Amino acid sequence: MAAFESLSSRLQNVFSKLRGKGKVSEEDVSEAMREVRLALLEADVNFKVVKDFIAKVKERAIGLDVSKSFTPGMVVIDIVNKELTELMGGTQSKLAKANKPPTVIMMAGLQGAGKTTTTGKLAKLLQKSNNRPLLIACDIYRPAAIKQLQVLGEQINAPVFSLGDQTSPVEIARAGLQHAKENGNDYVIIDTAGRLHIDEELMEELKQIHQVTKPDEVLLVVDAMTGQDAVNVAQSFHEQLALTGVVLTKLDGDTRGGAALSVKAVTGCPIKFAAMGEKIDSLEPFHPERMASRILG
Ligand code: GDP
Repeated sequence: MAAFESLSSRLQNVFSKLRGKGKVSEEDVSEAMREVRLALLEADVNFKVVKDFIAKVKERAIGLDVSKSFTPGMVVIDIVNKELTELMGGTQSKLAKANKPPTVIMMAGLQGAGKTTTTGKLAKLLQKSNNRPLLIACDIYRPAAIKQLQVLGEQINAPVFSLGDQTSPVEIARAGLQHAKENGNDYVIIDTAGRLHIDEELMEELKQIHQVTKPDEVLLVVDAMTGQDAVNVAQSFHEQLALTGVVLTKLDGDTRGGAALSVKAVTGCPIKFAAMGEKIDSLEPFHPERMASRILG
């Protein structure tokens, strides 16, 4: 995976030095932590997140009295692995399910983050476990967004509900949900409009869609390539919309990793899915422990 390449190789470097030592002094551990800290900062991880992370690793290392261990290098790596996993949410966070179908999933995010594409991918993932999702086309502003969703729907054989681009998105969402109820769809996924930047009008519209559809999940789609910015965007959306989760896209690119490693800690929202490509089947449930192991190599 191209993502995290530089962070990975830097961390591996730090740990190979430790691993080579039969005995590890407190200074060795401190030196290693200094290097881990720099590597994380360079990977665009939020400053405060890095600070807390290092403090926790140090605390654990002292608690375990690493210097007395027979394999001190391994112990430190294990601690870092556990803390990285915790940082990204600890365990996998599953999609919510409504007591009474349909489960309503609202997608939000800035334009270009990958919302429409992810809507299609998520539908495909749900179909794999025998669900019947309906996609609702509420992005009436971006030219071709509706068509894009329809093409995705055709590709995976999922119905797409649209009322064109002359009806208000709130109305479309309401009618789409009704349509799903009448047609026995167990999930609806609402593709909403994005903007290049967060603005009040967009937020107002999203809030209204939220009010009308009472979603079980509000997933923010963020482009992992945008690093710290992605985290700031997530925080703003969260304040307005009470997100239930984040989808990180473009993890196949050469993202430095900052978004993946900061977004949970900063917003409290778990990362639920990761997208790693343009293809329809490139969405996976996000597993913090697997991601941590990948980063540490
Ligand atoms: P929206 O404006 O948020 O709806 O964004 P789109 O779904 O139209 O996606 C914007 C661009 O990003 C498209 O060219 C997608 O093919 C691309 N894209 C989306 N997700 C991924 C991903 O995980 N990896 C890569 N490489 N490209 C992606």
